[in-house]
Amino acid sequence: MLEKKGNFNMERVIQEFDEVTKNASRVQRETLKKILEENGDTEYLQGLGLRGRTDIDSFRACIPLVTHHDLEPYIQRIADGDTAPILTRKPVTSISLSSGTTQGKPKYIVFNEELVHNTMQIYRISYAFRNREFPTEKGKALQFIYGSKQFETKGGLTATTATTNVYRSHQFKSTMCDIQSQCTSPDEVIFGSDFLQSLYCHLLCGLLYADQVQFVSATFAHSIVVAFQSFEKDWEELCRDIKTGVLSSRITNPNIRNAVSAILRPDPELADSIYRKCEGLSNWYGVIPELWTNAKYVYGIMTGSMEHYTRKLRHYAGRLPLVCAEYGSSEGWIGANVDPLTPPDSATFVVLPDIGFFEFIPLRGMDGCEHAEPIGLTEVQVGEEYEIIITTFAGLYRYRLGDVVRVEGFYNSTPRLKFICRRNLILSINIDKNTEKDLQLAVDEATKLLLAEKKLDLLDFTSYADMVSDPGHYVIFWELNADAKDEVLQSCCDCMDRTFVDPGYVGSRRIGTIGPLELNVVERGTFRKVLYHFLSRGTSVGQFKTPRCVGPANRAVLEILNEHAIKRFFSMAYY
Ligand code: AMP
Repeated sequence: MLEKKGNFNMERVIQEFDEVTKNASRVQRETLKKILEENGDTEYLQGLGLRGRTDIDSFRACIPLVTHHDLEPYIQRIADGDTAPILTRKPVTSISLSSGTTQGKPKYIVFNEELVHNTMQIYRISYAFRNREFPTEKGKALQFIYGSKQFETKGGLTATTATTNVYRSHQFKSTMCDIQSQCTSPDEVIFGSDFLQSLYCHLLCGLLYADQVQFVSATFAHSIVVAFQSFEKDWEELCRDIKTGVLSSRITNPNIRNAVSAILRPDPELADSIYRKCEGLSNWYGVIPELWTNAKYVYGIMTGSMEHYTRKLRHYAGRLPLVCAEYGSSEGWIGANVDPLTPPDSATFVVLPDIGFFEFIPLRGMDGCEHAEPIGLTEVQVGEEYEIIITTFAGLYRYRLGDVVRVEGFYNSTPRLKFICRRNLILSINIDKNTEKDLQLAVDEATKLLLAEKKLDLLDFTSYADMVSDPGHYVIFWELNADAKDEVLQSCCDCMDRTFVDPGYVGSRRIGTIGPLELNVVERGTFRKVLYHFLSRGTSVGQFKTPRCVGPANRAVLEILNEHAIKRFFSMAYY
């Protein structure tokens, strides 16, 4: 029997996905042809001599691999008001700002209707696979989503985050309805200008509609953790609001106040039941299923730099499964999670062969295969790592996304990718090379020592390559949930230093051309300050990723971290 709810037919969506993934090679050829037929006469492609050809070989011969830096002048002209077909024939409807947490400043990316269409496509596909394992009833979702600030570019285009561009599109609401993912909060909360007020009201609306909530989600896992950390502090006030039917005076934004007050009625019974349930919890373990009894799972991006938050998320989620969301970027979507039962640390993403044209630069250990030729989607090998190159319907041609992925297997003839890390080396003093993943491994090892101590946990972390001191050395910042003994922190510091096993690092540490690793413990709340710093610069909380390395361009963040450092340890690992 076909599973059909409203305008959503689960089995048909899965069947169509199976069709394209079985014929990935042909679909890739056709997708490139379509992109080039549509955009062949743009200034960018014409200038590169493609002359109407749409086959893969000509495309590769004429079009160079580029980074965002290469496209900046073109995108700037679009932002400044040049309406000629520069990168795309279809009009650019707005500019997306990528989160910019790594580079320190947001990148401009063109946004058009194609990206909205692709987003709805991937939402439907991953919902279909999720729904097959965890069928939802008619209902809503408690979604911690936030529109971000927007401004007009010189040429009059709206510039905001890609997710805000999607939330504002007219297709978003209807798709969310079709896939039982309608947000429990009104738009005024999603688009409110004050993050803390929106967060409070998301929690409140989620409680008011608790019976209907089918799952709890956010774009990135970090937002769910932040939300429940706030809930731990604000739950009594939330209960009071529900009991009296009067919204807390902390909500001063008139639009949010009106919209939420309109759905808030005195409900002492609901308030008392929430109060009792919260009181009965032990250290907030399982708060989500306790209060949202019909929720089937917790959903969001939990891979890559979000992996760190899954421990905390598991704690709040209790018995509910954590389901990893799609893999994509402001530039375009890449793959869907079609195995929702797989836990976050082994989640993979099946590439959507009709969403763009994909190429892969083989990396083999990432040591200097810079000149290896990119290969096609169906030519990749299981177990190998690659840098991913995308060509999209939204004006990016052979664009280096900067992500490293590993092929874990195939779904039909389409690869399943595991996200490994951003390609940029994040920690390097001289000949050493350490990536985000290496840092994560070092932090994970040391966290084991921390977790062995009762009630201690690492809330967040980042790093910095200090080249000013001589010799240079790695600095790691940690925020803990409680005070730790100095001996424990010293051994964590030593452990991290030892866990960076890159030969360049180990050799340099041995001969002293890299100094002892430094662990700085910062005051509680410091990473919130880092978050607020990014929000004040236009990043949306839904898109925020704690930068795992603070680059020299991020001086303001370094200042926040240093100002709030309360304890400092230097590794004794190599003495
Ligand atoms: P942004 O353009 O700011 O949304 O950031 C996009 C980047 O976030 C990607 O290039 C990845 O590095 C990372 N990212 C997005 N989705 C995932 C995912 N499912 N798993 C791991 N990292 C992801």
